[in-house]
Amino acid sequence: MALVMPGQSAMPSVVTPPELESLAPVWSHLTTLVVDRAVGATLIDATGREYLDFTSGIGVTNTGHCHPRVVAAVREQAGRLLHGQLNIVLHQPVLQLARALTAVVPAGLDTFFFANSGAEAVEAAVKLARRATGRPGIIVFQGSFHGRTHLAMSLTTSKAVYRAGYQPLVPGVVVAPYPYPFRYGWEAEETARFCLRELRHLLVTQTSPEETAAVLIEPILGEGGYVVPPDSFLRGVEQLCRELGLLLILDEVQTGFGRTGRFFALEHAGVRPDVLVMAKGMASGLPLSAIAAPASLMARWPVGSHGGTYGGNAVACAAALATLGVLRDEGLVDNAAAMGRRLLDRLSQLARKDARIGEVRGRGLMVATEFGRAGGAPDPATARAVQKGCVDRGLLLLTCGPHDNVIRWIPPLVVTGAQIERAVEIFAEALAAVR
Ligand code: PLP
Repeated sequence: MALVMPGQSAMPSVVTPPELESLAPVWSHLTTLVVDRAVGATLIDATGREYLDFTSGIGVTNTGHCHPRVVAAVREQAGRLLHGQLNIVLHQPVLQLARALTAVVPAGLDTFFFANSGAEAVEAAVKLARRATGRPGIIVFQGSFHGRTHLAMSLTTSKAVYRAGYQPLVPGVVVAPYPYPFRYGWEAEETARFCLRELRHLLVTQTSPEETAAVLIEPILGEGGYVVPPDSFLRGVEQLCRELGLLLILDEVQTGFGRTGRFFALEHAGVRPDVLVMAKGMASGLPLSAIAAPASLMARWPVGSHGGTYGGNAVACAAALATLGVLRDEGLVDNAAAMGRRLLDRLSQLARKDARIGEVRGRGLMVATEFGRAGGAPDPATARAVQKGCVDRGLLLLTCGPHDNVIRWIPPLVVTGAQIERAVEIFAEALAAVR
């Protein structure tokens, strides 16, 4: 395979300082690689050097980089209609996408609102909940990440830096504990029972059910540390919402579209939300997000009280339709489950030999290696050094968690067994080099 196109070899692979200075310094950078092209789970820089991408652009490229069917759909749609604003006209891609999505979301969530980013979709879900119930309160969970816009940031507690300096935040948000057994140093079911008790307590001490619109939760904490709660916890939250008449909003922005080895992570616990939030893996890299809810609930959202210029963009919807086809036809959800088991197995073997890895956990291809000890002694220094060692050896991995002491493994769902083995080999080498 020719990795560098003729005439492109002069392009620098690393941005020189003057160019980098023209980008706002608010962006942190894992690398300053200038990627020329990408295919599957591989990024290729302008010198032809290949990198295994186990970040998927933060969980977006589930079908792999530049899947030919997605690229063809984008090209075809771009030649027909780039933008048909949905308050003004309709177009086939958005109509077909809404129909296609009803086959993958829980039965009854048959009405969709489209936006561009995860944060926007979270905001839409919360605005819908507030208007439909007439109540202000939103319950979120410790360690959650829901986005960077002002309301989404106010719902986010995964790291103080996301909120610091932006006060006042949007009022009406209260925070319940999320079952993170490793951090508490407790057994999983015991942690879940504690958190459910605290949630009930919060509803008699901080926000009464009569003034609470919804409970908003990630089925697996993403940015907050790739924390997998016991299924009993999510079922308990659902039961409490039904009992007290609260809406349940599931944020599947990072867990959706096959990531956890099921189409949506809610399938593991068998819970059914009132509102499902999705983005990231939805359109293989084009900006698109959505919320799904029953028509009866969407009908309580007054016409004109929400909207947006670009939501449901024609090219992004065409990419999403192709993405759904690829996930189905190539069995990528099953591949995520199988490759995820292999990855968990290999990393667990490593962890048994290296006490610096405190826990390996995850579902499907959403896997974490946490550095530190159970009960609260995080080790971000080792995590960062290993992450850097991996980059130097050609493997891109992100960290997460409040202390950045968790390395997250989130390759495209097309990843092969050989790529998993190679990635773990690189990780082991990088780990051995950090002493
Ligand atoms: N919700 C979750 C669970 C996320 O992981 C993210 C992004 O990482 C968001 C919301 C925000 O998505 P976006 O960055 O597209 O606004």
